[in-house]
Amino acid sequence: MSKNHALLEIKDLHTGFDIGGEFHHAVKGVSFDVNPKEVVCVVGESGCGKSVMSLSVMKLLPKHNGKIDKGEILFNGKNLADLSEKEMNRVRGKDISMIFQEPMTALNPVLTIGFQLDEVLLNHSKASKEQVRKKSIQLLKDVGISRSEQVVHEYPHQLSGGMRQRVMIAIAIACEPALLIADEPTTALDVTVQAQILELMKKIQDDKGMAVLMITHDLGVVAEMADKVVVMYAGQVVEQSDVDRIFHDPKHPYTRALLDSIPKMEERVDELNTIKGIVPSLKNMPQQGCRFVDRCPSAMPECKQIDPQLGETNKGHAVRCLLYETSQPGAKTEVRS
Ligand code: SF4
Repeated sequence: MSKNHALLEIKDLHTGFDIGGEFHHAVKGVSFDVNPKEVVCVVGESGCGKSVMSLSVMKLLPKHNGKIDKGEILFNGKNLADLSEKEMNRVRGKDISMIFQEPMTALNPVLTIGFQLDEVLLNHSKASKEQVRKKSIQLLKDVGISRSEQVVHEYPHQLSGGMRQRVMIAIAIACEPALLIADEPTTALDVTVQAQILELMKKIQDDKGMAVLMITHDLGVVAEMADKVVVMYAGQVVEQSDVDRIFHDPKHPYTRALLDSIPKMEERVDELNTIKGIVPSLKNMPQQGCRFVDRCPSAMPECKQIDPQLGETNKGHAVRCLLYETSQPGAKTEVRS
């Protein structure tokens, strides 16, 4: 890998679906980087295109109607969008792994945990079955499963949700990938188990020096995990910066609204703040102007006519909103009154 390259560079990604004979973009012009050992959280409500973006990176879109129709996904400088299914199979699991929200959908219910872990290791190494089984048991221990010698003989339904997610993490890190993609990895778990899984992921990320691309709608997870945050709305990046600036100096009205909707310990309120309205569906995406306009408390008449572009307000802080004069890297922020 060249020194100047990020580990993952997503450039002008356009991904969409054929719905009733018409092609609709779920991801439209998304660009951002993930550097080695960096944790990047992609945040937004359901339907913002976060998961479609992550499935595009893994090339796991539904074959019958989904496709990447423009842009590049450079991993160590190689464009994954150009790889054949066979080449992509070598990347998955070994260089890039993914964990999903509901481990039951990713684990095979009729195969033992040991079989499923061994299989990943055997696919990507020349080790013997005995060596692989030893490693599987150790991996389960590494993710905090103490009775791992028994668990290798058990089936997914015999484990709790938290245990299953630990197994998924063990499978995902088995080949020590450079990048782990985690799509809402704690959403289906109890709050206490969520905290344990996040702590485990943070520890593994530190120990193994992996980069993590975390997809989440939960700003608590972002605060816990992220180095850098990418806020997505209606298939586009609307704000991007380091985690401190997103929490302490959010610019985009959508980011501000997401932060305002977190309940605060010190405030007693009768009603929680919500963002009015819903994310437009793929078929009803505005064709012109800002995609957030119908929900934005700061909307101006021109927001319906002009497409805001993503630009930097100051170094490393990009926003897509007509309230700000933005420009290319190094520019100074100006806020319109
Ligand atoms: Fe709101 Fe206009 Fe900015 Fe869109 S461009 S977020 S509508 S102020």
